[in-house]
Amino acid sequence: MYIDTHSHVNFTDFKNDWQEVLERALKNDTWAIVVGTKLSNNLRAINIAKQYPKGVYAAVGVHPVQLRDEEFEEFDEASGKKITIKSPAEKFDFETYRDLIMKSINEVPVQRSFMRNNAWGRIVAIGETGLDFYHLPEDITAFKREELIDEQIQVFKEHIRLANETQLPLIIHCRGSKANPDDAYDSMFDVLKQAKLRYGTQVKGVIHCYGGNLEQAHKFLNLGFYLGFTGVITYDKSNKYEKILREVPLDKILIETDSPYLSPDPYRGQRNEPLYVKRVAETIAKFKGITVYEVAKATTANALELFNLRY
Ligand SMILES: [Zn+2]
Repeated sequence: MYIDTHSHVNFTDFKNDWQEVLERALKNDTWAIVVGTKLSNNLRAINIAKQYPKGVYAAVGVHPVQLRDEEFEEFDEASGKKITIKSPAEKFDFETYRDLIMKSINEVPVQRSFMRNNAWGRIVAIGETGLDFYHLPEDITAFKREELIDEQIQVFKEHIRLANETQLPLIIHCRGSKANPDDAYDSMFDVLKQAKLRYGTQVKGVIHCYGGNLEQAHKFLNLGFYLGFTGVITYDKSNKYEKILREVPLDKILIETDSPYLSPDPYRGQRNEPLYVKRVAETIAKFKGITVYEVAKATTANALELFNLRY
């Protein structure tokens, strides 16, 4: 069995066939956590999770790139052309999200082991939240840049406060700048270290799609965080991930797709989906010189533990 702890089946890429995609995964003993990035797709993630008594769960949060106005291109089926979509800046309103979670708890009191945790609805984590320096505009002053980073940190801290209050784990996005891919991981570590001092062991979670260096990986592990790995490790030519994965203990690894993005080999370039998380497990097994079964067993146990799910 596998648990894809990071998928975006709630995105429009899956609007016509998300049920088929999830059934394909469930039939193959693969569970999925559906992760939101803004209010509209957070609601969609919850609605999708509600359709399944077991095996599909939701995470809610505001992705750092959603904090600013966004423009992106999407294929429009009706006109057969690419159209530009404007997505206005998203706010993270603590009360709104707390209410969503409380409602989720009251609605479906099944499936989750509850003694340790007061939250056992369809929402199993807070995220996607975190820091993204990669998409910061390049034509801004250093002062403005600091201001935008500071805003991301403040919003991230609000997510941590909510995670503490609801006793849910965090699903953390972290991406460094083009000039220095490791920079956001240093800032992330500082924030998480402070949060640990403030809230203690209640602050827990996964650094999703881990992309920092080995030294930074050790620092997050020492704080008790899990590291999530995606299809990126299947086509890494620099051996960076092989070196990191050899050192990260099996009981701290989670496997993810980040679908529809980051399709693993041999599906690279196609739309990704939860079923393909198996390729990530196979690659980790190869790096560590162990069996896929061992990776599947350990990463499933880790996901059940962190997200407080019951098999
Ligand atoms: Zn994601």
